[in-house]
Amino acid sequence: MLLALFFAAPASATTLPPSCHAFSLETTTYSELARQPERWICHSIHWTDERPVGWLRFDASSWQSIDSPKSFITRISKFEQLDVFAVNSDGTIDVLALKQDDVKPLAGGSIFSTPLPGITDDTQAIVIRIVRPWNAALLAEGRLSTVAGGEGWHAGKLALVAILIGLLLAPMIYDLAVYMVIAQRFVLWHAVLTLSMAAYVASMTGLSSLFFDMSVMTHAILNGITIAVAVAAAAFFTADYLEPQMLSHRMRWTLRLAGAIVLTVSGTVSFFPPFLNYTAQTYFFLGFLPPFAVLFAAMAQALRRGSRAAKFQIVAWTPIILCGLERIPRGLGLYGVPEFVDSLLYFTLVAEVVISVLGVADRMMSFKQQRDRARTEIRMLTNLAEHDHLTGLYNRRAIEPRFTALCEEGFTTFALIDLDHFKGVNDKYGHATGDAVLRAVAEALAPDDNTLAMRLGGEEFLLLLRGRKARQRAEQRRQALPHHIATRVPGLAGPVTASMGLIEGAIETMEAKTFNDLYARADKLLYEAKLGGRNRTIGEKLTLFSPRRTERRRESDRRRAA
Ligand code: GH3
Ligand code: MG
Ligand code: MG
Repeated sequence: MLLALFFAAPASATTLPPSCHAFSLETTTYSELARQPERWICHSIHWTDERPVGWLRFDASSWQSIDSPKSFITRISKFEQLDVFAVNSDGTIDVLALKQDDVKPLAGGSIFSTPLPGITDDTQAIVIRIVRPWNAALLAEGRLSTVAGGEGWHAGKLALVAILIGLLLAPMIYDLAVYMVIAQRFVLWHAVLTLSMAAYVASMTGLSSLFFDMSVMTHAILNGITIAVAVAAAAFFTADYLEPQMLSHRMRWTLRLAGAIVLTVSGTVSFFPPFLNYTAQTYFFLGFLPPFAVLFAAMAQALRRGSRAAKFQIVAWTPIILCGLERIPRGLGLYGVPEFVDSLLYFTLVAEVVISVLGVADRMMSFKQQRDRARTEIRMLTNLAEHDHLTGLYNRRAIEPRFTALCEEGFTTFALIDLDHFKGVNDKYGHATGDAVLRAVAEALAPDDNTLAMRLGGEEFLLLLRGRKARQRAEQRRQALPHHIATRVPGLAGPVTASMGLIEGAIETMEAKTFNDLYARADKLLYEAKLGGRNRTIGEKLTLFSPRRTERRRESDRRRAA
């Protein structure tokens, strides 16, 4: 793109800068000024003055060797009246009086052109009188052009600008997509930032005037408000974007305040409101100083604190901020620069967009890492909360809330196991040995994919089984307990046995029961086993006769009979 710009056909028009300029009160006429050569400033860049009228004088000597000029062009801004004088050698003056609405914007920088009165060999000078120019650039950047109607940029350069605007708009789509994933406010501010920058470029390059029939006034307003919104959005974006620990609370609010200042001050002046006069433009430029200063301070602070996001931002924004800062003294009329300096800003914008999109992506990655870390932590905490710390088996909390789901997955055999005379083990060998016995029980219960084992509390365990021969597998485990305990806990005088209450149910019947129902039922069976002499199992099969089911069976019986 840069190459295309450099090799693009050079403008065919020649532009002439003014020979001298002057300031006066509204009552001063050209003849009066012409009689006072000391009032003309010819070799100075002093472009601002308290007085409301600015004069530009183009002496005929400057177009002696070239085509005579056909138009006057200058930077777009608000003014009240613009008069073009052709001063003839006999002292007569041809005047062309123009109002704001008489001039048209050009597609090529933020400029407009006016016609000139016919220039003859008799013409000594062209003089431009601008009443109440809001921007010093209206005077400082005033030129005569040899092309009638003034010359905008050629198609290649405008195409380049269009590409640039496209580049600025693309990340907005990306921002909206990212917002759906991470829903962070800074993503929206970035979208506002890129949109307002695209609008600013469209307005400042005059590209917008190719598509919309905009008056110079509308242009002037757009130029101001789009950049004010962009800079405010940049401040709001930064306040939300930098990582939580990387910016002090106070700095965040200072950023937001600075954003609000530029919106209020520069934003208001942008609209050229009737309660302000032409000198207010100074405040438009000064309004940008707080956000620029605070942005620098914020990035410096974040960088000192080791922020990653700030690094992206510094690379992305330093060129723009430098370009923007350069415009403040220029806008105040302290000096003028060749046009390519203006174009430089557009390239810094593209760099900003590309780099800050990378920054947003990077930030998104760190959100993802944070989330992954949080998930692992949750998993670990859940693990801790759902396991019995002595035996490592699941506890009641792990199973109870999932009981219905487990039933549906086929865990429909419910075996409640309680050690026999365990209190005696504790009493005889001590609590530590009792614990060792409980650990041995956990091992012997041997949970697997089709056998869930949990410790409900004390010396009470539960098996949930699915698959073939569930009842037998539960019974085998119960019977294996004394031997396993004896090998793991040597020195016990007698075997430690267990009793079991067992319920087998078909899936339909299980679903009808809650965990507590089944537990209460199994506990009764267990109690019977204890009463019956311990070291045994009492089981039952649950069958459920629901009216619906009976109905269905009758129906099918009838069909079979038929
Ligand atoms: P029964 O055959 O009727 O079940 O008699 P039991 O002695 O096994 O039943 P009881 O409920 O009277 O006693 C249970 C004992 O289990 C009482 C308590 O000290 C012991 N116990 C409960 N939790 C633990 C534990 O975590 N570690 C140890 N070592 N003992 C425990
Ligand atoms: Mg017991
Ligand atoms: Mg017990």
